[in-house]
Amino acid sequence: MTEVRKPRAKPRGTVEIRVDECKGCGYCIVECPQKVLVLAKGFNRMGYHPSEYLGDGCTGCGICFYACPEPGAILVRKLEPVS
Ligand code: SF4
Ligand code: SF4
Repeated sequence: MTEVRKPRAKPRGTVEIRVDECKGCGYCIVECPQKVLVLAKGFNRMGYHPSEYLGDGCTGCGICFYACPEPGAILVRKLEPVS
């Protein structure tokens, strides 16, 4: 059964995958503590399934950025807390 994730009220970070820079190795997916990255079903122009952000739950920790061997494939932004 697929787990249904509940959206968090206040996003703490966001991550952008540059799909054509990604070789689909999955390191970022394995290392993400929030488990918010998956391999996309589609292919990029190099024929790989790129990593994809589920769209919610990123904390901006940056672990995926440091795990990724491809310079420029991942961009992480830490968001300012909403008061
Ligand atoms: S910044 Fe952290 S929480 Fe966000 S996708 Fe990367 S590893 Fe996961
Ligand atoms: S670690 Fe980098 S190259 Fe590997 S799947 Fe994630 S974004 Fe793509």
